[in-house]
Amino acid sequence: MTIDLRSDTVTKPSKGMLEAMMEAEVGDDVFREDETVNKLEQKLAKMFGKSTALFFPSGTMANQTALKLHTNPGEQVICDKYAHVYNYESGGVAFNSGVSCKLIDGRRGMFTAKQVEEAINPSDYYYSQTSLVEIENTTNKGGGSCWDFNEILKIKQVCNNHDLGFHLDGARIWNALVEKEESPLKYGEVFDTISVCLSKGLGCPIGSVLIGDHEIMKKAINLRKVFGGNMRQVGYLAAAGLYALDSNIERLKGDHKKARDIEKCLHQLPFIKKVEPVETNIIIFQLVDEINEVEFINTLANHDIKIIGMGGGKLRIVTHLDYTTVMHDKFIEFLKNVPLNY
Ligand SMILES: *Cc1c(COP(=O)(O)O)cnc(C)c1O
Repeated sequence: MTIDLRSDTVTKPSKGMLEAMMEAEVGDDVFREDETVNKLEQKLAKMFGKSTALFFPSGTMANQTALKLHTNPGEQVICDKYAHVYNYESGGVAFNSGVSCKLIDGRRGMFTAKQVEEAINPSDYYYSQTSLVEIENTTNKGGGSCWDFNEILKIKQVCNNHDLGFHLDGARIWNALVEKEESPLKYGEVFDTISVCLSKGLGCPIGSVLIGDHEIMKKAINLRKVFGGNMRQVGYLAAAGLYALDSNIERLKGDHKKARDIEKCLHQLPFIKKVEPVETNIIIFQLVDEINEVEFINTLANHDIKIIGMGGGKLRIVTHLDYTTVMHDKFIEFLKNVPLNY
C-alpha cells in the first residue's frame, strides 16, 4: 500500500466517476455542441452567480487566459510573492501576456488592502500601468490558508477606486468554501474572473473552469484556442466534473480533519522544528537542523510513503480523496516511530 501525500492531484477517478464519464452525452465542443460541457459550464456559472464559464484542460491555462483578458503588454499585475501565477506557471505571465508582477510580501500567501494600495503604480507615463490584482484562495505555497472575506472586500474597494481587475485563482476554492462555510455566490459578486480546479480536491482526472460575466469573458474562448486548449468530445471529462461537484465537495471536511490530526501528531515529535498552522488540507513543516530533509523524504519513501520538499527546508503533506482512513492510521503510527538516527 503506497501512501501518497505529495498532492491532492494524485487521485484516480472512482468507480462512480468513471461510470458518469462512460455515460456522458458528447458532441464537438469546438462547435459548442457538447451537451455535457455546456451543462458543466452552466452549472458553475450559476453557482458563482456569473453569466459565463469555460472549461479548460488545466488551471494554468485558465489563469493564463484570465491574466490576458485583464491586461495589455507592458502592464503590471499585483500578486503575492507566493502566487502560483508567479512561481509555478513557467513564467507564462511574461511569455503570454507580456506583463510583470508587483510582488507583495504577504503572510502565508495573503495580504491586506493597504498593501495593495501601496503596490499600485503612480499614473506618470514612465511607470508600468497597474491593471490587475490577483489572489489565491486557499493559498498553495501559503499552506492551504483561507482569506478573511472582509479583507477581500476591502481589496475590492481598492480595485474599484483604481479601476483594476480582480482575479481569483480558486484552484482550491472548494476547500475554503467548506472550511469557512462560505457561499460561492459571494465570491462571484466580488471577483471579475474566477478559476476553479476540478482535479485537485474534487478528484477529477483533468479540468479547470474559468468563470466571469459575458463582457470580460467574450475573448476567453479565442484565447483558449490560441493556447491550444479547444477540445472536441470533451464531455467525457466534463462528466467527471459534474459528478465531482455533486459528490466530492462536502467530503473535503474529512481531508481537513485528517490534516489537523497530522498537524497535532507532528507537534508532538522531537524531530520537528516547526509546523505551520493547518487550516485546510495542506501541512507545511520543518525538521530540526540535525536531520537532512532529503534523507527524511527517502526514509519515508522506503516505507512507501511519499511526501515532497518545497525548498527552503520546508516539507509538504497534502490530504486528499484517495488518502483513506486505513492509510491515515498507518501514517500516524509510522510518524510516531520513524526510524531516524540523529
Ligand atoms: C494547481 C494549481 C494551479 C494550476 O493547476 P494546473 O491544473 O496544475 O495547471 C493554479 N493555482 C493554484 C493555486 C494551484 O494550486
